[in-house]
Amino acid sequence: KELVTGEKIGCICITEPERGSDAVHMLTTCDEQEDGSFIVNGEKIYQTNGSKADWAVIYAVTEKNNGNTMAQFLVDTSWDGWTSERVNIPWTPRIHIGKETMSNLKIPSECVLGIPGDGRSHLFEGLNLERLGIVCLNLAEAWNAITHAVIYTNMRKQFDKEILKYQGVGFPLSDLWAQTMSMTLACLNICQTIDNKMEQLGTLPKEFNLALVATASQLKFLSTQLCERVVYESANLMGGAGVCDNTLMHDLLGITRIQEIGGGTRQVQQYIMSLTLRQLFKLL
Ligand SMILES: Cc1cc2nc3c(=O)[nH]c(=O)nc-3n(C[C@H](O)[C@H](O)[C@H](O)COP(=O)(O)OP(=O)(O)OC[C@H]3O[C@@H](n4cnc5c(N)ncnc54)[C@H](O)[C@@H]3O)c2cc1C
Repeated sequence: KELVTGEKIGCICITEPERGSDAVHMLTTCDEQEDGSFIVNGEKIYQTNGSKADWAVIYAVTEKNNGNTMAQFLVDTSWDGWTSERVNIPWTPRIHIGKETMSNLKIPSECVLGIPGDGRSHLFEGLNLERLGIVCLNLAEAWNAITHAVIYTNMRKQFDKEILKYQGVGFPLSDLWAQTMSMTLACLNICQTIDNKMEQLGTLPKEFNLALVATASQLKFLSTQLCERVVYESANLMGGAGVCDNTLMHDLLGITRIQEIGGGTRQVQQYIMSLTLRQLFKLL
């Protein structure tokens, strides 16, 4: 409840120093004890909010490199055996990224969210919604940048005219606006479909979740590239005012620089999409 209301901060721990894109073959281990608790050992890295999280959802395997033995746990970060330090990303000084070490971390049985074997499917189900969440962030950043550029270019005068009236400024902004609007409508459409399913069924059916994998990857892949371009172009169309430090545009330029990596890199999204293409081909 504390997490849902935002009173406490949470993080999700999947990525490890030696297992990034290849997250399924993780090295963090969990050993079940006689009382149903687990002892976890390993390292995680690049967790959003990791260094200031009160709670963490972590993934570990009973056998190293074997994703089929993956389990999922809820961890109170004040427990013995848990340490976290901040990893600094210079483009995003306001974001806290963590590197976590679990050393004989004891997890009571009531904090087992998925027994060994169930963790892998829990991880992939969570990734769909995480990726759609990133799409929403991308769109928020793109709209933020466009709005600022439109206000600025409507007010800024050069050669005695508002610069938006020059086609060299107005046309590229219109182009970015059209693309951002299309992406927003696509995102809202899939979010509405998810909401409808949840309202009707109380859960997302397995087949729907599987189909959602490709859609979430497509939208994450395209929206990340779009938002980076929109923010870069919007900043450029604002001239010097768009690239000064300590401004909103400066923050947006930094954030869009890193969005392609979290939630699975560009190549991972392409890999997922190409796998789906092969499956679709088999259905023809
Ligand atoms: C801002 C930010 C927030 C993050 N938040 C979280 C979080 O909350 N929780 C969490 O668990 N993780 C998080 N991550 C980690 C993120 O998911 C990983 O960084 C990402 O999956 C890539 O792993 P890696 O950094 O080890 O890169 P690597 O996997 O080493 O990849 C390096 C490069 O090689 C490419 N590559 C790898 N394999 C292939 C292949 N088979 N074919 C083609 N190209 C390939 C990649 O696409 C990439 O370009 C976050 C990362 C960032 C930057």
